[in-house]
Order: sequence, then C-alpha cells, then structure tokens
Amino acid sequence: MHEYSLAKEIANIVKEKTLNQSLVSISLKAGILSGVFPDSLSFYLELIFQDLGWKDVTIHIESVPAKYTCHCGKTYTTEALLSGCPDCGQFERSLIEGDQCIIETLEVK
Ligand SMILES: [Zn+2]
Repeated sequence: MHEYSLAKEIANIVKEKTLNQSLVSISLKAGILSGVFPDSLSFYLELIFQDLGWKDVTIHIESVPAKYTCHCGKTYTTEALLSGCPDCGQFERSLIEGDQCIIETLEVK
C-alpha cells in the first residue's frame, strides 16, 4: 500500500504542474533505500493516470543506488548495502541520496 499512497501523491503533484494539459510521460527516480518497488509504483500510477483520463502515459522509473560520504572523505554509491567504504572499509558514513522518490521529468501535450 506504500506504493499506492505514493502514486496518489505523485499524481497530485503532476495534476498541479500540468494544469489542464495531458500527461504524456513521466520519469521518476526511486532510491533503493526508499522502500519503493518500481514495478508496483508503475502499476498504481498507470491506474491513477487512467482515472484522470490520461491514457498511454509512458512511465519510467529509475532505481537509484545509495550514495554515501565516508568519514575518510570518500563519496561513493553502492547497491550493496552491506559493504563499507571502498577506500577504508568503514561503515561510519552519511547518506546523501538513495532514500527518496523524486519526479525527474514530466512531458505534457
Ligand atoms: Zn572511507
């Protein structure tokens, strides 16, 4: 259900931004730490868009790896959450991105 409420939220933002235009395509970035399943999100978005009268919207969802800055200064991205810094092997790090789901582009007609 997480994806359904997220899809609703995205649709509301899209409605505001597109005004009375019709949505053609949307690109999203889903961080791997956001807990979003792209297939599931895409499924709900399609349903909601159809309800809004937008047919055949191209939905692109890119999975974004987690990006960290290590205490040693190294910035790195990883999809392997159980591996530490590639330089020093430490786990003391700050998350920069990878826990959010963002709208990258919208195309309307
Ligand atoms: Zn390090």
